[in-house]
Amino acid sequence: MFSRILIANRGEIALRIIRAARELNIEAVVVFSEADRHAPYVRLADRAICIGPAPAKQSYLKTDAIISAAEVANVDAIHPGYGFLAENANFAEMCRDCQIEFIGPSVESMRLLGDKVACKELAIKHKVPTFPGSKGKVESEDEALKVAHKIGYPVIVKASAGGGGRGMRVAHNDIALRSGLLNAVSEAEAAFGDGTVYIEKFLERARHVEVQVIGDKHGSVMHLFERDCTMQRRHQKLIEEAPCPVLDEKTRDALCKSAVRLCKAAGYYSAGTVEFLLDDATKQFYLLEVNTRVQVEHPVTEAITGVDIVKTQIKVAAGEKLPFRQAQLKINGHAIECRVNAEDTDRNFAPQAGRLERFTVPGGPGVRVETHCAAGYTIPPNYDSMIAKLIVHSNTRDEAIARMQRALREFDVAPNKTTIPLHRRLLNNSKFVQGDVDIHFVERLLGGDLPARD
Ligand code: ADP
Repeated sequence: MFSRILIANRGEIALRIIRAARELNIEAVVVFSEADRHAPYVRLADRAICIGPAPAKQSYLKTDAIISAAEVANVDAIHPGYGFLAENANFAEMCRDCQIEFIGPSVESMRLLGDKVACKELAIKHKVPTFPGSKGKVESEDEALKVAHKIGYPVIVKASAGGGGRGMRVAHNDIALRSGLLNAVSEAEAAFGDGTVYIEKFLERARHVEVQVIGDKHGSVMHLFERDCTMQRRHQKLIEEAPCPVLDEKTRDALCKSAVRLCKAAGYYSAGTVEFLLDDATKQFYLLEVNTRVQVEHPVTEAITGVDIVKTQIKVAAGEKLPFRQAQLKINGHAIECRVNAEDTDRNFAPQAGRLERFTVPGGPGVRVETHCAAGYTIPPNYDSMIAKLIVHSNTRDEAIARMQRALREFDVAPNKTTIPLHRRLLNNSKFVQGDVDIHFVERLLGGDLPARD
């Protein structure tokens, strides 16, 4: 096992990894930017190294500074968390070159799965359902039109290097496709330095369902069932739950096995997530992408399976075998997570940086709070606005919803505006309670199209 690891991240996930390391008797070194010097979690680490000024480009994304810190602290491994460098195969390669273990999959798996066109080709080869669309990348307008006529509108143009919803355009006709293609290509070139795009059928009413996988370096890949992340706004997840409330056993089995097949084909180890869109009406699911890292919403899976994903990720990186077999994993109860962001939901979700005068978190049975914040902490304006994750676990979905409603009422944050009132509204909405939602539900609700029951 490692004796010391470096955490190349900040906020709640840095704290989560410190805790996992402690329980494994591993020393935890954190890096921090000048803006995070006084963050409570920095004090909890065994060692903390400042790597630069507040902007992420000059600190948390600065690979040479992070590798230098790792060398100075003499660590065995680096945990990248999520975001920042977590899916950067070049960084993983730098770690490998410096003989520092990257706590994640291999450089090759990251490159293969991070390229959406290559990932889709691999999926097709291994009979993982994908959306009908172009065979690989689309080279010209004529080709795009031909594909669209073949599969029928609406279609979506997507960037092969895509991420964060960038480089995507939906088209309902030829004119929209022509301009969408141009825009997607130039957006992808600007954002990722790679203008490669592909086309697929656009599913109007879908749920976002994803499978948590975990593999070791001995060839085992298993799944930890699925999460439903349909409650999103502008591709940002707001509420996640496990298991998916509308999945029957047959579909669940096919979905989870598809995810494992794809990851096995990519030689995957570590924790990862295979994302799908699910057509509620036909029960058909289609691959979206693979995230080669731990995700924000991993705690709901931990709650229903009892598996500590971060500790397992560290253990497999150190070469250990997975300590369970697929048949031993069972779904136990229902878990829900609400992302508490410091945002003003009435002002287009404007970030609410600044000092937290009050910050009292809920507790009691079945409640878990993952946060790096405390009263008196000043939220820096430079990073993500998520200040806490509130997770509840109970025997049934109805009980979990009731538990989340009471936990949200206990959560007291001031003066910064947060997403807590929106979560309370969503948790009370009869459509959400019935599980009758799709990925555009929250946006429709905020636009006032659907009746809200507050
Ligand atoms: P990114 O990596 O940029 O997040 P994804 O492939 O995960 O890109 O897609 C992001 C979101 O775009 C999905 O959650 C979904 O809302 C929408 N989307 C992507 N592909 C399709 C599709 N074929 N049909 C309908 N919606 C889609």
